[in-house]
Amino acid sequence: MSEDERTGPVHDVVIVGSGVAGLSAAVYAARADLEPLVLEGPEPGGQLTLTTEVENYLGFPEGIGGMELIQRGKAQAERFGAAFRHATVEDASFDDRPFELSLSNGETIHTRALIVASGASARWVGAENEDELMGYGVSTCATCDGAFHRGDDVLVIGGGDSAMEEALFLAKFADSVTVVHRRDELRASEVMARRALEHDDIAFRWNTELLEIHGSQDDGVTGATLISHPDGRPTEKLEAGEDVDSQAVEVGGIFYGVGHVPNTEYLEGTAVDLDSDGHLATLEGMTTETSVAGVFGAGDVMDPDYRQAITSASTGSMAALDAEQWLDERDAVADAAAVAELEADD
Ligand code: NAP
Repeated sequence: MSEDERTGPVHDVVIVGSGVAGLSAAVYAARADLEPLVLEGPEPGGQLTLTTEVENYLGFPEGIGGMELIQRGKAQAERFGAAFRHATVEDASFDDRPFELSLSNGETIHTRALIVASGASARWVGAENEDELMGYGVSTCATCDGAFHRGDDVLVIGGGDSAMEEALFLAKFADSVTVVHRRDELRASEVMARRALEHDDIAFRWNTELLEIHGSQDDGVTGATLISHPDGRPTEKLEAGEDVDSQAVEVGGIFYGVGHVPNTEYLEGTAVDLDSDGHLATLEGMTTETSVAGVFGAGDVMDPDYRQAITSASTGSMAALDAEQWLDERDAVADAAAVAELEADD
């Protein structure tokens, strides 16, 4: 931390986000004596806190709970001196240095380097009534809400690992679980797909999408209208004027597992480049640098492809190393300039 006569206290590194990427960055930055400040954001701990078992993180042959992995990571970062704040960044300005971050509590903080590790949040399907019924029987988190659906018939929307994980979890509580997927082939990894496909209590509806959700906030979800087309992606077919099959089903819960959208709203309109899907764009090559020198990206916010806990941890460590090197280089230049000034005065 230093002092700027215009802005007051200035952090060396602020990390936005406290998922596995932010925590990994915090461990590395703290060990480099940069005293990082982690702004935990609206979903402290990130997506792993909503996961059950993590089986593919190196070093845990029996698997580890997502929440436990995050708690351990936070304790590790704190041990080396990282500070954590319950705060969400609403706006960011990169016009001047140090960078300025406006928090949702009205506070403004300044930092020389920024690590963007704000992750991604669950995507919604866009079905009719989902706005009204989200949280009233429609959920993006089976581990959070699954237990409310003991004995219900439930739908899981999506064909990736998230949807398979939700279906497998819900099968413990629900009377029946039906996975609704818009194509006839799963996107999920082989092991997850096999577990769900071979599960006695999980059924699949292929080439099918959720059009409308029935129910009310008082009664919760009571059913849904599904549409199907033999060639898949029925919503697109419907929009193109083709015939689709439509069917009403009675269900007590609907769980979304249709992927995630990057949390980069606070970077929109700034000099930090985003790609067409809103992911933070990093420079070519193996780096976490972005279009603004001193801003680095880590984890799902900058990764549309891998999105694994272990790749997020890796890019988090890379971002901290990149930030450390960038700060060192700037300090070296500043030191050289100060020496030159002193020598000029001699
Ligand atoms: P994903 O792989 O992007 O899959 C999203 C699924 O939702 C796809 O099947 C997609 O259909 C479908 N979909 C997207 N938008 C839709 C819409 N509007 N309506 C209906 N369906 C829609 O996302 P994910 O499953 O969240 O997985 C993300 C990453 O996290 C992956 O790399 C995955 O391996 C990882 N992950 C791993 C685990 C684990 O190992 N335990 C658990 C969860 C996630 P299409 O297939 O037709 O595109």
